Amino acid sequence: MLRDISRSVGLAVHQDAMAQRLANSEEHHRLVVDHLIEGIVVQSREGVVLACNPSAQRMLRTGPQIVGRSIRTVMVRAFHEDGSPVTEDERPTNQVLATGKPMLGVTLAIELVSGEVIWVTENVVPILKPGQSKPDSVLISFTDIGPVREAQCQLKFLATRDSLTGLYNRAYLTERMNSLFAPGGPDGKGELASVAVLFVDLDGFKKVNDTAGHEAGDALLKSVAGRLAGCVGPDDSLARVGGDEFVIVVSACDCNERLIALARHILDEIAVPFAVADNEYYLGASIGISRFPDDGQDAPTLMRNADSAMYHAKQRGRNNFQFFTAELNQQLQRRFLIEQSLRRALAGNELSLVYQPIVDSQDGRTIGAEALLRWYNSELGNVSPAEFIPVAEDAGLIAEIGEWVLAHACEQAARWRRTLAPELIVAVNLSPRQFNDGLVERIRRCLDQSGLEPAALELEITERLLMSDSDTVLPMLLALSATGVRISVDDFGTGYSSLSYLKRFPLHNLKIDRSFVAGLPDHRDSIAITQAVVAMAHSLGMNVTAEGVETPEQAAFLRSIDCDKQQGYLYSRPVGASAYARWRMRMRQQSPEPRGALSGVTTRPERG
Ligand code: C2E
Ligand code: MG
Ligand code: MG
Repeated sequence: MLRDISRSVGLAVHQDAMAQRLANSEEHHRLVVDHLIEGIVVQSREGVVLACNPSAQRMLRTGPQIVGRSIRTVMVRAFHEDGSPVTEDERPTNQVLATGKPMLGVTLAIELVSGEVIWVTENVVPILKPGQSKPDSVLISFTDIGPVREAQCQLKFLATRDSLTGLYNRAYLTERMNSLFAPGGPDGKGELASVAVLFVDLDGFKKVNDTAGHEAGDALLKSVAGRLAGCVGPDDSLARVGGDEFVIVVSACDCNERLIALARHILDEIAVPFAVADNEYYLGASIGISRFPDDGQDAPTLMRNADSAMYHAKQRGRNNFQFFTAELNQQLQRRFLIEQSLRRALAGNELSLVYQPIVDSQDGRTIGAEALLRWYNSELGNVSPAEFIPVAEDAGLIAEIGEWVLAHACEQAARWRRTLAPELIVAVNLSPRQFNDGLVERIRRCLDQSGLEPAALELEITERLLMSDSDTVLPMLLALSATGVRISVDDFGTGYSSLSYLKRFPLHNLKIDRSFVAGLPDHRDSIAITQAVVAMAHSLGMNVTAEGVETPEQAAFLRSIDCDKQQGYLYSRPVGASAYARWRMRMRQQSPEPRGALSGVTTRPERG
């Protein structure tokens, strides 16, 4: 009996312990489920929520009352990552209920009853009772991936955007073009897209940036970006690809008229003054246009060719637009060839100087000569300086070439002054690109090394230089003038500078451009211009040389208006140094000095 009692008591104690253990384990499970960051929902085949943890309630913006109610009372719709709606059959819960197989890592956007959309990644597993092959319910565990997606979107946005203007960047633009040029066409139907690339480069931005500061420059670029954005269509892509360079990819443009209208619209917009921090700024734009597939079949080629067309627009006076053409392509190829060959020209001894006599207008006396550069290349033949000097300037080769010219011209002049005539002077052309910090020093060195007196060297500068930036040019000209060399303005009359403007510079001579001389002595405008230039130059204490004198009539007219010096084929073409010396000696023997063509003188140009 006692044993029976003690057995039943033991049984009761044992059952209590079991119940306690069970309660403990349930408590542990609840603890785990309640503290999971993941949301857990158990849902019946009918869509009723059988259980859900606090995380799920938080994410679905609901309370515990959801248990026992349809999941539809909190979740309205779901969407795929590409934004398309998830159909009933596609719903992961329905698929798992139908197949009995779990679905893991599904990313969905869920629209809640409040209208809010949350992004989740969910795993759906079937709950199968022993012996069951189809589940009656499923367990959904899901994570809120909203913050991660936001960060990803932000990163993607940043990776495709220019941080200053918010426009697309070059990387995005290239990607966009590649998608448009895909072999099957943009929509995969095999039709090629009609795409054009507009390369827009601002005129005058650098000056604003340098003078008004980078803050004003940045504000200006943002305003420009805004105006450009207003010009492009919804399917076009606008990007900033460099400091003041913008590119527009125009899709579906089957006619040039639309491109022309767009380019004109942009030029008009940029021409309207920009107001930045109480200042008004005036800009312009140069635009180059290339078209797919004629002008290039890939993004880099189209961009490069649009850039080249833009460069061409800049050369043609800025503030205009140019299409890339086959002719331009040829010009560019020749330019490229010239640049490559020019790099080896000095070392290969391919450069030489010729000299064109400069004579006194009144008595025909030889005053000196202008040194003119010649280049003979075995592949290209003779290349005119009018063609290769601009290439040398752009390629950064002019400093070295210019120094070579100066050194050789000074040496030659010093030799002539020792052996031929002590009064001869030499004129040397200087490119605006040679006007940098070391110029005065380089000229002094050439004079020292050759022993040429400074007054025997005349430097021919361009009107373009005088008009570029008087703040830096004026001090340099003053320093040059202080060394004792003479300064002459070449091709005067082509650069639109006024004589009164020239007054501030230390100039000794003006060379009237040969286009004006060509109209003499009959053309009324040419007469008026040459007369005015001579009279005003004299009143400012400058001499005048007439360039390109070809006929005795021109020479006589120039003498009659008191033009000081003349130069041109009438007297001699540019010739090699030894031919010049022979010419000079023969001239001295002819007395009195002729005022016209020089009989018996070889005026054919020669090398060296
Ligand atoms: P520029 O300095 O105005 O030189 C005068 C140009 O006119 C020369 O052309 C000369 O051959 C040509 N010319 C002279 N008389 C007559 C004439 O009666 N009729 C015609 N139709 N033409 C005449 P070139 O030698 O072809 O030089 C062209 C330009 O290249 C020069 O114009 C000058 O701006 C530039 N250049 C030449 N040598 C140098 C140089 O060493 N350095 C720099 N920076 N530029 C140079
Ligand atoms: Mg000249
Ligand atoms: Mg000239």
